[in-house]
Amino acid sequence: MVRRVAVVGAGVSGLAAIKCCLEEGLEPTCFERSDAVGGLWYYTDKAEEGRASIYRTVFTNSCKEMSCYPDFPFPDDHPNYMHNTRLQHYICKYAEHFGLLQHIQFKTLVTKVRKHSNFSVTGQWEVVTQRDGKEATTVFDAVMVCSGQQVYPNLPFADFPGIEKFKGCYFHSREYKEPEKFRGKKVLVIGLGNSGSDIAVELSTMASQVYLSTRSGSWVMRRVWDNGYPWDMLVITRFQTWLGKILPRALSDWLYVRRMNRSFKHENFGLMPLDRASRKEPVFNDDLPGRIACGVVAIKPNVKEFRETSVLFQDGTVQDDVDVVVFATGYIYSYPFMEDHSIIKSKDNEVTLYKGIIPPQLEKPTIAVIGLVQTLGAIMPTVDLQCRWAVKVFEASPFLSSLPQRHGNGTTLQPDYITYMDELASAIGVKPSMMKLLLTDPRLALEVFFGPCTPYQFRLMGPGKWCGARKAILTQWDRTLR
Ligand code: FAD
Repeated sequence: MVRRVAVVGAGVSGLAAIKCCLEEGLEPTCFERSDAVGGLWYYTDKAEEGRASIYRTVFTNSCKEMSCYPDFPFPDDHPNYMHNTRLQHYICKYAEHFGLLQHIQFKTLVTKVRKHSNFSVTGQWEVVTQRDGKEATTVFDAVMVCSGQQVYPNLPFADFPGIEKFKGCYFHSREYKEPEKFRGKKVLVIGLGNSGSDIAVELSTMASQVYLSTRSGSWVMRRVWDNGYPWDMLVITRFQTWLGKILPRALSDWLYVRRMNRSFKHENFGLMPLDRASRKEPVFNDDLPGRIACGVVAIKPNVKEFRETSVLFQDGTVQDDVDVVVFATGYIYSYPFMEDHSIIKSKDNEVTLYKGIIPPQLEKPTIAVIGLVQTLGAIMPTVDLQCRWAVKVFEASPFLSSLPQRHGNGTTLQPDYITYMDELASAIGVKPSMMKLLLTDPRLALEVFFGPCTPYQFRLMGPGKWCGARKAILTQWDRTLR
């Protein structure tokens, strides 16, 4: 019987985990190494070891109606896209509202998670923690790993010959906080992800020139989409997902490329993804095309070689007098506290998890990794559903239609949002039934199918139902316009 659950980390995933444990009558204990909740959204002027670090001007790229926890909408007067301080405020309110804080031990680092000696019978884990230099070991029936994915920088220096000769300054985007100190400098940003493009755009207001190097291009989407509505309210709908499934692949790819190129032709801006029909997460940036058009951000191909003060690119062009290089080259997954690293990372350092959550090879499915799967959808509704699913797995609930199979296949870590959410929701009996809705509440059915797939849909029926979900769905556009 699972009763005591350890939660590692009190970011948005950890808070969802505590809440879902409480809803199921379990006893969660959350360990958080810092002194506050929020994880990545808890901004500090200096990057802290072992915790995600953001720059001062980070705004959300998923809108408020799509990003909230499913039973805790954002206040009406919040803008659709929020500065990190506002999101952090919301996260704190969520923790207070649901009484989560009393289950968190702050300034407590989890140093080890290992199988208990009787694991094969009980599925228990030993969790070793450190606080004020004192070590403690506690036995838990299950563990929810919510330690974040954007923590350990990926710095692939081997792919950048000559970097050791480069005389300018270089660092990972995780260290970047604000643009002032780059006034008048020539800066090269490597990597066209969300951080790389945000940083390039921001630096272009201060630096004398910014170069943005990309290996494979990317689709760039605007937050402000057709007719000025939030992109995700229009793109992430059940209707669109259904269309994507029934249309022939070639036609669906053609429509996708056409849609992505509607506001500007990526090819003309040097941004065209190598894999045109790739559905990998686009970059969200309203200003990048404008900055490129003004010449303050210049798009460059991959770097071939660094020299003392210049950079040679794959297309043979050389950029002289580069002062600063920002490696916006992403992060690696790392779980340093796992005694047996192969539990989460299998061979070749690949992460293979059932539903992107549970290691399939364990004798007992009593450890879950929350927040690792990356979909086009927002993190908060995703982790809420992942946690609800995971606790049912821990309890081997009769509700569950499919349990992780030993040695079963892991799922891709970048699934389609609605398909993934529906899979988890179906397994625990909370997927909205279109047929039932159509017969009993046609107005709601139409909004659920044709409107944005907002988080409230996954708290509309079944276990964990929220009585405010119907109203929240029917008023979501009012809050957006407000
Ligand atoms: P984190 O926020 O990283 O939290 C992990 C917590 O675990 C931290 O508090 C850390 O201190 C703690 N911890 C780690 N190790 C230990 C340990 N050993 N012991 C104790 N505590 C530990 N997603 C969206 O949905 N919408 C957005 O608009 C969006 N914008 C983003 C913008 C940026 C710049 C980035 C980098 C990401 C963005 N994301 C966005 C994705 C982001 O990953 C999530 O929003 C989310 O913050 C991740 O939450 P988490 O709780 O999983 O991890």
